[in-house]
Amino acid sequence: MSVWAVIVAGGSGTRMGMPVNKALAPLAGKTVLERSLEAFDGLVDGAVVVYRAQDEDAVRALNLRARLVPGGETRQASVLSGLYALPQDAEIALIHDAARPFVRAETIRACIESAKKYGSGVAAVPVTDTIKRAGQDGVVRETLPREQLWAMQTPQAFRPQELRRAIETLTAQGEAATDDARAMEACGHSVRLVEGNSGNIKLTRPEDMELARLRLGESEGRAMQRVGHGYDAHRLVEGRKLVLCGVEIPYEKGLLGHSDADVALHALMDALLGALALGDIGGHFPDSDEKYRGISSMLLLKETARILAAQGAAVVNADVTIIAQRPKLKPFIEQMRANVAAALEVPQERVSVKATTTEGMGFEGEGLGISAHAVALVEKKER
Ligand code: MG
Repeated sequence: MSVWAVIVAGGSGTRMGMPVNKALAPLAGKTVLERSLEAFDGLVDGAVVVYRAQDEDAVRALNLRARLVPGGETRQASVLSGLYALPQDAEIALIHDAARPFVRAETIRACIESAKKYGSGVAAVPVTDTIKRAGQDGVVRETLPREQLWAMQTPQAFRPQELRRAIETLTAQGEAATDDARAMEACGHSVRLVEGNSGNIKLTRPEDMELARLRLGESEGRAMQRVGHGYDAHRLVEGRKLVLCGVEIPYEKGLLGHSDADVALHALMDALLGALALGDIGGHFPDSDEKYRGISSMLLLKETARILAAQGAAVVNADVTIIAQRPKLKPFIEQMRANVAAALEVPQERVSVKATTTEGMGFEGEGLGISAHAVALVEKKER
């Protein structure tokens, strides 16, 4: 079943007190129209954007992934132009105001589902204010029963042929509707409401734009915290240096590996990469690559820090546990923390390094190898 969005950007924007159509108003680096169109990405088979004739150049310059058609004198005429531009096989059309960039995917999906099932699905929210009907004289005539009142939003989803006929009929009768559901009602179709959410506001007045910018500023500036875990183990052999968190520790054996086999830093790097789902150190620094032979893992940790920074991510804290029966690591712990903190460019109090034995159990307990676990918390600015 082919589902299409018809984004109506035909409003004149005069209420905004702005020289441009509100659909083309900038909102945190994009136009309102682009944001509204993007809300349908992945949810529909295609989109038609209905623009005001005088905005044609500006709209074309946006290179939207949509069919572009000029609108008419009224909203109704613009919706009709959009419907005429749909492909033959379009079975559901979602009419949406370009001035509602905050529509949620779940609302769009619910409208589509309802239209497939019942022929219509119209986003609406229950009215929370008390609504009264008043006369020209400003005197209340009636208090309306709030539990039956709904404020209409978009998208409004219908079968395109039915909506087209309904709007044509209403237009022929000389009536102008403020929403598409009205045309359907007038032609005897039942219209199904889909509960939307109050955040799906229509940017109508200048203060709406201000609110929208604030809201986007907040959500775009919000940092997402992500956690990662790493684990590694290396064999203890004679004739190798023992290096843990960049500290060379006097011991009769050392860890075997392609690099300096700093098992603690390997676990830590895997935790950092894992926090951003960037794979593991094997993928970034393959041990088949000769340039990593014998390399200090401190250099690889610094490189990992650069990879994170390039993603807009910063390390909040890290906690490393080294599991070794011998040697005693306590005297080296502070230097290990200092090394890691310096490489990650964070204060030392955000880096924890601990050591434990296994009371003689397992490969670590038998002195065959050393293992390490690490967890790291990373903060990433959402873009
Ligand atoms: Mg390793």
